[in-house]
Amino acid sequence: MKRKLKKGPVVVLAICLIVLLVIVFFPKRSKERFLADLSSMDRTKIEEYCEKEQLSCEFQEEYHSSVAKGTVLLQEPSQDTKISKGMKVIITLSLGEVPKEVYQENKVNEVGRVPIMMYHHIENIPSSETKYTGGNVDKDGYNRTAEAFRGDLEKYYQEGYRMIALKDYVKGIIDVPLGKSPIILTFDDGNEDNFKVLGKKEDGSLKIDPNCAIGILEEFKQKYPDYQVTATFFVMKGLFQQPEYNEDILLWLVDHGYDVGNHTLNHPDFTKISAEVAMQEVGGMDQILNEIIPGKYVSIVALPFGSPYKKTHANFANVLNGTYDGKSYQNIAALRVGWEADYSPFSDNFDPTFLKRIRAYDNNGVDFDIAYSLKQIQNTRYISDGDRSTIVVPDSKKEKIKETYGLNVITYDEISS
Ligand SMILES: [Zn+2]
Repeated sequence: MKRKLKKGPVVVLAICLIVLLVIVFFPKRSKERFLADLSSMDRTKIEEYCEKEQLSCEFQEEYHSSVAKGTVLLQEPSQDTKISKGMKVIITLSLGEVPKEVYQENKVNEVGRVPIMMYHHIENIPSSETKYTGGNVDKDGYNRTAEAFRGDLEKYYQEGYRMIALKDYVKGIIDVPLGKSPIILTFDDGNEDNFKVLGKKEDGSLKIDPNCAIGILEEFKQKYPDYQVTATFFVMKGLFQQPEYNEDILLWLVDHGYDVGNHTLNHPDFTKISAEVAMQEVGGMDQILNEIIPGKYVSIVALPFGSPYKKTHANFANVLNGTYDGKSYQNIAALRVGWEADYSPFSDNFDPTFLKRIRAYDNNGVDFDIAYSLKQIQNTRYISDGDRSTIVVPDSKKEKIKETYGLNVITYDEISS
């Protein structure tokens, strides 16, 4: 009898609990929805879907030579993302092949010149406090103030330049929007003011000086979220001169869209050293990078002083290939010092193993400074069609194309009829 009396309330309680659980969880579960794959829908269908699911859908359009007009190129967020009311979804639709008039209007020229800028120190002093013009810290303009560097980045942006990675450029990958031109930033010597660490935050991440080169580049990234911000840092055995943080810095750089390359162990003049020492200088630096960021550094050398100055010099071969301490190294490109823009990777003038750079300084528009160098390529600069899978050039420049990297070549009449 005792047992029977207890069983009744337990059963009732259990039923109540189940009912309660169903009430609490079931409606929620039934409302949980996930984003569909929009790639098979057309614009009208997508709009209907967005309305039904109460999503805030936004459409963007991009030309794409091999994808039919109206086809979805990208949906952001991706399918199967949990839907919330009013969630923003961006759908990029193909505009199909670019009409030739668009090439004409934008003066697309993918065999044009590409500026590779060369920086050294970025010093955090006001430009008005230097002895020289335009934010140069030294007479020759190898070093810039933080203020001037901010101005340089703004100038590149306003003049229609968009940053690309050096490692992509040497492989014929140029991904900038229609009508824009690529620009490449490089920093030599691994100066502390290129990446100054002020300490570590509680979560272990690096506290970066907002006025060092990376601090300024990251600030720029925040300001223009649609703009790829990248640069290649060429370091020596002292890396970034901060033994406590050097390894963290290299790891941070390759994790945040920047690159690290080889500037030799000790900055020798290759015309004044033996083949053996040359291989030690290049191979030794390669091994340091390989230990800290294996497979993640670029096989590119920034030549110290631009030496050996000529490709015919015996040590030039040792910059590109060699063996040191039982390990061999191969480099795919080398950078010189100064004085003008280099060429499109598709151009017959392109030689990745002997690239020219522009000294990034300001001298009132003379002596090969930034303004002068960019003005020099005003009408010859590389202008993108916005599609990295094609090479687009005016008819008259077709014979300038030497290397296509397997991409389709499209030509057009320069003058509209
Ligand atoms: Zn140097």
